[in-house]
Amino acid sequence: MMNVHTHSTYQRSFCSPLVARMGPSLVAHHFERASALRASGERLFDFTAGEPDFDTPVQIAAAAHRAIDTGATRYTPVTGTEAMKAAIRQKFSRDNNLEFGVREVAASAGAKPMLAAAIQSVVGPGDDVVLAKPYWPSHVNMIRMCGARPVIVETKQASGYKLTPDCLYGALTAHTRLLILCSPSNPTGAVYTAAELEALGRVLLCHPKILIVSDDVYEHIVFPPARFSTLAAVEPRLRARTLTVGATSKSYAMTGWRVGFAGGPEGWINAIGTIFADAFGNPSAVSQAAAIEALTGDQTFLSDWRQSYQQRRDLTVRSLRKIRGLEPLVPDGTFYAWVDCSALVAGCASHNHRIGGSGDLANRLLNEARVAVVPGEGFGSTNAFRLSFAVGERELCAGLQALAEAIPSIAQGRASGARSGGEMRPNR
Ligand code: PLP
Repeated sequence: MMNVHTHSTYQRSFCSPLVARMGPSLVAHHFERASALRASGERLFDFTAGEPDFDTPVQIAAAAHRAIDTGATRYTPVTGTEAMKAAIRQKFSRDNNLEFGVREVAASAGAKPMLAAAIQSVVGPGDDVVLAKPYWPSHVNMIRMCGARPVIVETKQASGYKLTPDCLYGALTAHTRLLILCSPSNPTGAVYTAAELEALGRVLLCHPKILIVSDDVYEHIVFPPARFSTLAAVEPRLRARTLTVGATSKSYAMTGWRVGFAGGPEGWINAIGTIFADAFGNPSAVSQAAAIEALTGDQTFLSDWRQSYQQRRDLTVRSLRKIRGLEPLVPDGTFYAWVDCSALVAGCASHNHRIGGSGDLANRLLNEARVAVVPGEGFGSTNAFRLSFAVGERELCAGLQALAEAIPSIAQGRASGARSGGEMRPNR
């Protein structure tokens, strides 16, 4: 008999039990689907992007050119050059009032490998890792990849989708080994105040075995009056067990350069370096040169960019608030609007034309209005979607208009026009 392999048989044969535990990346899937439509010549309002629409500043690119011209194109120490480490220390001191020794910092090829190695170095099977929902899905998958268990804590709109001391306290057990904080948050844009971090810190001080990863990659995209704070600076007594992770990707419009960094206890940094040495290697030498310029050079453009994001945030929130059934959270940071669509979904159910949550809604918006958003399912929430406003203002206005026109038809159970298109399916 012929041995017929199905797609899933092949899938299974390439998946270890650990990889099989990881969920599909809905964010990447929706981004790719939107990109494919655009590549096929379709007019599309693409609000899925998780990156700035600014170009990397010229002085940063020039530093990379200089590195190439002077032959700085070889391997570097796995956790970065001496100059890179000096730049990271300078950055933490200037921006966060955190003083680190040279052995307490490391660079990486983007924040992702830093986060993955940081988690992998301290947790394994039998350990629990606490994080808030809505979550960034890569955090969850990185935990699963280590055989540890994500303990996902539901947060409420009333608390701005942030962990409160009570809900944190309720999630901690003897198995808890790590807490992951993400502020400003992807996907909600929520920013913890110093007082909120202090209150979480008080809970953590009572649990001395718990380590903390603070994912601060959106640190410079925070809108006044909100201010960025980070746990290790707010509660110095937690500094010995907190790893503060940053990146040049979002703040400096350097997503393709792949440079992340961290500051924390020497032992943790050493363990991360051990993983990098065998598994991930050093960040590109050329990109490190660029990142040094980003972290130590002119910082004034950051406030111009911040203002530009803030204007687009305000425009986005104003427009979304006029659409019946949608309730945007006002993000204090990032370039994402987190839009609650539960009223729309409930309204449709009561009129007998069900929308099966935000995934369904995102499919209909794409197919009927050519508006691409990322459904909340990817972030653990079926009643919201994420809309990135890191797009040009004209495009943003036109796309929000298309959204405003499509939603009433969807709410009334009518197809809103555009064209039929492929169903957007999770890649499961
Ligand atoms: N952390 C969060 C919360 C993110 O949203 C992202 C990227 O989307 C990253 C980390 C990864 O950053 P990098 O591109 O530097 O790997």
